[in-house]
Amino acid sequence: MDFALTPEQTSFRDEVRSWLAKNLPKDWSDRMRVGSDVPRPEVYDFLRTWQRKMYDAGFMGLTWPKDYGGRGLTFMEEMIFQEQIALAKAPPVLNILAIGMAGPTIIAYGTEEQKRRYPAKMLSCEEIWCQGYSEPNSGSDLASLQTRAEKVGDHYVVNGQKVWTSIAHQADWMMLLARTDGKAEKHKGITYFLLDMHSPGVTVKPLKQITGDDEFNEVYFDNVKVPEANILGGLNNGWAVGMTTLMYERLALGFGLQVRLRIALDGLVDLAKRTKKNGAPATQDPNVRQKLAQMWIDTEVFKYTGARAVTKLLKGELPGPEASAGKMMWVEGHQRLQELAMELQGPYSQLGRGSRWAVDGGVWQYSYLRSRANSIEGGTTEIQKNIIGERVLGLPKG
Ligand SMILES: Cc1cc2nc3c(=O)[nH]c(=O)nc-3n(C[C@H](O)[C@H](O)[C@H](O)COP(=O)(O)OP(=O)(O)OC[C@H]3O[C@@H](n4cnc5c(N)ncnc54)[C@H](O)[C@@H]3O)c2cc1C
Repeated sequence: MDFALTPEQTSFRDEVRSWLAKNLPKDWSDRMRVGSDVPRPEVYDFLRTWQRKMYDAGFMGLTWPKDYGGRGLTFMEEMIFQEQIALAKAPPVLNILAIGMAGPTIIAYGTEEQKRRYPAKMLSCEEIWCQGYSEPNSGSDLASLQTRAEKVGDHYVVNGQKVWTSIAHQADWMMLLARTDGKAEKHKGITYFLLDMHSPGVTVKPLKQITGDDEFNEVYFDNVKVPEANILGGLNNGWAVGMTTLMYERLALGFGLQVRLRIALDGLVDLAKRTKKNGAPATQDPNVRQKLAQMWIDTEVFKYTGARAVTKLLKGELPGPEASAGKMMWVEGHQRLQELAMELQGPYSQLGRGSRWAVDGGVWQYSYLRSRANSIEGGTTEIQKNIIGERVLGLPKG
């Protein structure tokens, strides 16, 4: 990949930079100085407004076709944008499941009507999306899912349960995988629906996490009617459509997460500078310096792995193993970073939000606990290793 920018790309970078300088909320960048940036419930309203502002400025959906609300640019501009976001330590995008997954999948598989109806409202954050894949007995083995949809007249009736559904309590729409043919082979009887979360019969029950927040939910369907027109990509073709969503999820991970990791690492370096170890700043301790330097190197490697995926996209190819490797690199990097944040704080690491002595108001304790989920969400580390083993190294299936 050629990292030198063309004059057009330079002017795009400058446009982003000056827009961020004018529009970035000051108090947010102060808060971003430390810790994690997983959207907390108390900032949802602020993040909706922030995303709308970025949309109005033309920075959401950079690579999406203009006809569907995007800007029709290349992944190079997306990469430039993400880099500027990281440097400015800007707030995260709230409707990330829509923009990272649902939107690109609809653009790839949708009817013209679906493509005109949904994507633009994802970008503007008017409609929030969640992902209804996992069930109590189907996570890694997703194809075994049991939620079923039966045809009645011109609609389908959905019954069953999803679990761990992030942001369902805020969502207007769900990417739903449901079984439409119970007799077919398990991968072949699944259909991908666009489900209106405000439909009668949908019940959302929040689940409390180790952090104390309820970021994800159980979702129950009790005779929920979904119009046939809300099938995406054809009846019983849900496995192919759903895998496309997961491919985009990993791509979004590659783009977005290296940016968030870089922001968190800057916060950690700042924490180390402010923390005293044996009477001197922790950044003078050789062990701490080694660990920080290693993290910086890992973050750069992660960035260039993402750039390899972008190179493939620019050539019109689809990234493959880079995506799984990227997910693992992020998990390991981020969990190690949060562990070092705890180590630096010594006994103070025991104090979280609510304690007047908690370091930085307990934000590091929150993000340390939240980071434990990284190796599960979006496909577990073991599953990523299986993919790398089978598809990259050519090992036999275990
Ligand atoms: C914070 C968070 C947010 C989430 N958000 C969503 C969401 O929005 N929508 C959604 O649909 N899901 C979501 N999930 C669910 C997530 O996708 C699943 O938890 C994940 O796929 C694992 O499934 P499981 O929990 O059923 O574990 P299981 O699949 O039961 O796995 C249990 C353990 O066995 C291991 N294992 C399983 N199969 C194999 C194998 N073949 N080889 C080796 N090891 C194996 C796993 O790695 C794991 O350690 C979220 C999860 C988290 C933690």
